[in-house]
Amino acid sequence: MHAVTLIKGDGIGPSIMDEAVKVIDASGVKIQWEEAFAGLAAFEQFGTPLPDETMASIDRTRLAFKGPLTTVVGGSGFRSINVALRQKYELYANVRPAKSWAGVKTRYDDVDIVIVRENTEGLYAGLEHYLTPKKDIAESLAVVTRTGSQRVIDYAFKYAQDNNRKKVTVCHKANILKFTQGLFLDVARETAVRYPDIQFDEKIIDASCMHMVMDPSQFDVIVCTNMFGDILSDLTAGLVGGLGLIPGANIGNDAALFEAVHGSAPDITGKNLANPTAVIMAGVMMLDHLGEHEAAAKIKAAVEKVVNEGKFVTPDLNPQSKCGTIEMGNAIVEAMK
Ligand code: NAD
Repeated sequence: MHAVTLIKGDGIGPSIMDEAVKVIDASGVKIQWEEAFAGLAAFEQFGTPLPDETMASIDRTRLAFKGPLTTVVGGSGFRSINVALRQKYELYANVRPAKSWAGVKTRYDDVDIVIVRENTEGLYAGLEHYLTPKKDIAESLAVVTRTGSQRVIDYAFKYAQDNNRKKVTVCHKANILKFTQGLFLDVARETAVRYPDIQFDEKIIDASCMHMVMDPSQFDVIVCTNMFGDILSDLTAGLVGGLGLIPGANIGNDAALFEAVHGSAPDITGKNLANPTAVIMAGVMMLDHLGEHEAAAKIKAAVEKVVNEGKFVTPDLNPQSKCGTIEMGNAIVEAMK
């Protein structure tokens, strides 16, 4: 029995997480779910977006399965709880795989890219303030440390080795941000020497975006700092069929958190339209992390069957489909039998 902190989250979160839990439980794996709250839902209910009980649960389980959390855009409101959780538990590697699906028609059919995003520092370190009382000058500090860069870059190379990947590309902006991005690039170059069996490439981030749209097959594993990884992973999501398909694993040395790449999607909340695939695939990554490879493979095969058939899928994958979140979850459970 594995204990997992379950945070259903905001917006479409509860609906997709209910399907994910249903599918994971149906795989036969024994999980003891500890439900906890965070984000806007927690703020409205408990007056804080990250209650002590939630952290106490993660302190115990060291493993969380989380739906998306709403972060209010702009000046007012609390800071991102996603960022806070990643920093508190030192979940330094955010692993986001994007792979083409046989049944999802997109511009390319051979995309297979894993983004390893630094997850605790960079421009998301949270060091932002106004310099004047009138609030007409704002400043944000990007923090890049050798230790923080080393652990995520090592993770990317080890991931490549363990998963039969050929190449690691560091995407950076060291031509302009010579110290912060320069340090990250230096560490990547030094690290590459220790992994002679893995090909190493370096690309400037803006050119990376152009190359990725024109020929994604030149990328395999990508490693980059926090904000570039955030943006690039939505780009890779778009290449394989959208945000409803991409899972993410936030990995630290003694804790991990699994979630979808997408957010709380307020535009489709409450309409039974949200695609549960991304969080279900995050569940597959979590089961693999737990060593439950058989259950993970069973769920993955069922998801692939349902998505590739294109019949019992949400409208983001098939606009003709009358199927919703719940019906897609049911179809995946059926496909496992
Ligand atoms: P979003 O990812 O929620 O939505 C972007 C677009 O993708 C929307 O059109 C949405 O309908 C669509 N989409 C997203 N998930 C989908 C799914 N499962 N099925 C079908 N379509 C889907 O991004 P946003 O609108 O910019 O952000 C909304 C909120 O989510 C913000 O508060 C943001 O801060 C938060 N957010 C949270 C996380 C997280 O919790 N890890 C990640 C990204 C954004």
